[in-house]
Amino acid sequence: MARGTTVTEYLPRSSKLSASDTFSLSSKIQREIERNGISRPKGYTVSWHANPEVEKHHFGMAHPMKPWRLTLTKEIVMAYGMHTAMDTHLSRAATVEELVEFHKEDYIDFLSSVTPQNLGTNYPWLKPGAVGYSGPFFGVGEDCPIFDGLFEYCSLYAGASIDAARKLTSHQSDIAINWSGGLHHAKKAEASGFCYINDIVLAILQLLRHHPRVLYIDIDVHHGDGVEQAFWSTDRVLTLSFHKYDKETFFPGTGPLDDTGPTHPDNPGAHHSLNVPLNDGIDDVSYQWLFESVVGPCIDTYRPTAIVLQCGADSLGHDRLGCFNLNIQGHGSCVSYVKSFKIPLLVVGGGGYTPRNVARAWAHETSICIGADKGLDPTLPLHTPFRHHFAEEGPTLFPPLHATRFENKNPRAYLESVVTAIREQLRYMHGAPSVQMSHIPPDIQGWREEIDKELEEEAKREEETKEEKDGAGGLLARTGRRRDYERSAGTRGELSVL
Ligand SMILES: [Zn+2]
Repeated sequence: MARGTTVTEYLPRSSKLSASDTFSLSSKIQREIERNGISRPKGYTVSWHANPEVEKHHFGMAHPMKPWRLTLTKEIVMAYGMHTAMDTHLSRAATVEELVEFHKEDYIDFLSSVTPQNLGTNYPWLKPGAVGYSGPFFGVGEDCPIFDGLFEYCSLYAGASIDAARKLTSHQSDIAINWSGGLHHAKKAEASGFCYINDIVLAILQLLRHHPRVLYIDIDVHHGDGVEQAFWSTDRVLTLSFHKYDKETFFPGTGPLDDTGPTHPDNPGAHHSLNVPLNDGIDDVSYQWLFESVVGPCIDTYRPTAIVLQCGADSLGHDRLGCFNLNIQGHGSCVSYVKSFKIPLLVVGGGGYTPRNVARAWAHETSICIGADKGLDPTLPLHTPFRHHFAEEGPTLFPPLHATRFENKNPRAYLESVVTAIREQLRYMHGAPSVQMSHIPPDIQGWREEIDKELEEEAKREEETKEEKDGAGGLLARTGRRRDYERSAGTRGELSVL
């Protein structure tokens, strides 16, 4: 689909219903809207970006990632009538041209051509069950399997994040939501941790066309490694990830406290990657205190003009893969806090492997975005499709999730030391970097060309410098290192943003 025709009206499931069913359902939803005081937010606009085709994809029976959780989320949102308080957009697939703004072309070629049917013929070493299936070939394997419609799935969730970012930059939206996005582990040429395309990086690239500084906040239980790597060498994106950290035993094993960006002080990305490593079992009170103690000073110091909030729901208690003890309300308090700064906000999903709790959390967080959370009856409306699916904990938005087998191993003294360390890092930041907006080309292609040109000039200068400094202990010029980053695949500093 050509650019410009990016959005059309989002149609609810009513097309499958008869006229009388539709009327009956509409009247029930109307009652919920009135009963829960749902109305369009005053003074700001919230947009919802989704394509129901994403929900139909299937990673495999035993795989923990269930796109169906998006169906559950949407059904709760619509049962309450929250969709009437937002601009709803049917997003389209990202084009190859858009995907290669971050990803390598050969990787996108692979994703767009591989199928479960041609896997054995074209890539015999990747055949499920064959030795090496989990080997490093663009990262595909057990965690990131090749399934039917893979490329459609990837392009659709990425397209939704790109559309959402564009709505923010065009000031048509103040808070844009894409629960199908947030796939933070994907690298430039590597699938990782159930993520193939990094929609967050693509969305941030859109935001950077108009915004001098973007703050990325990640509350998934896993480290937001893909986003951190992508913007490793720039000060125009500050990445901040809260996650369980264990180098040896917890995926992806990165994101310690002292991982704060490139170590060379001349690299503009130095001190612009912040990490909050946590242990098992953190609870609502500790998490909320920690989140506000870290995020507040980051916003005050960095002064972002746009924020991207990754709301991975695997940080909830009772998650199939997670190990925290957060309740829906504790998780949602992060959204409330970030929203309170009134900075253009892109909200995306991420992990979350107990689908009914993912749906509860993201529906609750949608209500926060539209300012309807305070008056919302937590009992799921009777007409909510799949309501029986929530029976285990009762048909409520807020089941107790804090009682898990994970003891809280985050004593207050540890959390205070983390806050102190993060604030220390912020002192190195030298305030918010300014960007002369006139220097930002109107499109990424132009931007890339400008970077390429500069890199060429830098390469020449580097050669000259090298000749001058021959024997100077292999001192790398800053420019040469950045070029190395540009050429590298799946390593830090994949994308240098000036
Ligand atoms: Zn995760």
